[in-house]
Amino acid sequence: MVIDDILAHNQQFVQQKTLPIIGHAPRKHMAVVTCMDCRLVRMFEQALGLERGDVLELRTAGATISGPERESAASDLIRSLAGGIYLLGVREVAVIGHTQCGLSHANPTVLIASMQALGVDPDKLMREEGVGDTQGLVNWLGAFNDVHVNVREVVNVIRNSPFLPKIPVHGLVIDIETGKLEMVDRG
Ligand SMILES: [Zn+2]
Repeated sequence: MVIDDILAHNQQFVQQKTLPIIGHAPRKHMAVVTCMDCRLVRMFEQALGLERGDVLELRTAGATISGPERESAASDLIRSLAGGIYLLGVREVAVIGHTQCGLSHANPTVLIASMQALGVDPDKLMREEGVGDTQGLVNWLGAFNDVHVNVREVVNVIRNSPFLPKIPVHGLVIDIETGKLEMVDRG
């Protein structure tokens, strides 16, 4: 399994590298919300000029808060931002979606077929977990049609959360091929 390669690499890593000891509060007092896309690995930090210790990085599928969680104080993203703000000194937030996101234009038929192939019964989920119909299942996953619209919506959910103070929240989109940032909504 891949984990064995990772463990083997890690053994070498700890022998060869000594990391500087730094604090857990982000140097730039910023939290960045972005997607889990594998093409963002390393490229994201390089494109933004970020070093270890600079910012908090929160990654969710689609850099989004799914429909059912938007109204809820229990959103894991809001909880994480609250921790960053109240405990780690974050005073500025940037939500950064990206082009060609796997969660944009998610195909319900593909989603359902994939679940069934992996032994998960979507009908049972829709019946017993209160997600409603197929579209409800897609909403639960956080799928969206337009990354710019999604970024604006997530920015507004964060700005309007009663759990968070009034601090600047920006919305941006990064081009997954070039790394170019586009400002969508400056906080
Ligand atoms: Zn994505």
